[in-house]
Amino acid sequence: KINVAGLTKSFGSNEVLKGLDVEVAEGEVVCVIGPSGSGKSTFLRCLNKLEDITGGKVVVDGFDLTDPKVNLDEVRQHLGMVFQHFNLFPHMTVLENIMLAPVELKQLSRPQARNKALELLERVGLSNKADARPAQLSGGQKQRVAIARSLAMNPDIMLFDEATSALDPEMVGEVLQVIKDLAAEGMTMVVVTHEMGFAREVADRVIFMAEGLIVEEGKPEDLFGAPQQTRTQEFLAKVL
Ligand code: ATP
Ligand code: MG
Repeated sequence: KINVAGLTKSFGSNEVLKGLDVEVAEGEVVCVIGPSGSGKSTFLRCLNKLEDITGGKVVVDGFDLTDPKVNLDEVRQHLGMVFQHFNLFPHMTVLENIMLAPVELKQLSRPQARNKALELLERVGLSNKADARPAQLSGGQKQRVAIARSLAMNPDIMLFDEATSALDPEMVGEVLQVIKDLAAEGMTMVVVTHEMGFAREVADRVIFMAEGLIVEEGKPEDLFGAPQQTRTQEFLAKVL
């Protein structure tokens, strides 16, 4: 569960988040859309405190991220995050990449972590790539490994930031399918995406951001079917 109230974020004198109120319930899938520079990535990064929070309140899984004493390592074990550019360790095999965090953080023994990694690889359709190195994989395969690696820590919440936008078109579908499967299993997710078809199909709720504000939010059929705000209408006219 995520609870954001009056979140502001400035870089120097540039206020890029101007007071966001967002609640994400357990098991809910929220897609965030909006033009480039509207603050989508910054918002997501505030949810696991990759950015310092300038103002307002952010509570994730019961952890108050604005409390200076919050244990960020602990918070981040509850949150998986997948970015546009997969950052797998090139010198490790796929299996080792997935096993790394649970073993390092002493969550699982090596044999347990190995079993878990194999199970996750099966889940993302890559059982046959356990011993491959990242360089031997396609972009879509690498991104599926990145998702499996996040899942290895048993997160309660997954954050995706344009996880498919660096991929060749023919690989987008396989990665979106993995995210869809997670949604169907009841994972709580915040997904920044420019895949409007995906947002329409998978989101419980869609948030449209522009210039650091939530302009409009609603069920996908309402937001895409009958947007209320001119700003939303203009954006959708361009991207749909
Ligand atoms: P895109 O769709 O292109 O990914 P976005 O909605 O994710 O855009 P952000 O990356 O959140 O937008 O950026 C919002 C604003 O914050 C932009 O004006 C950007 O220049 C600024 N910004 C982001 N990160 C930093 C930073 N580390 N330092 C200074 N300004 C930043
Ligand atoms: Mg971004």
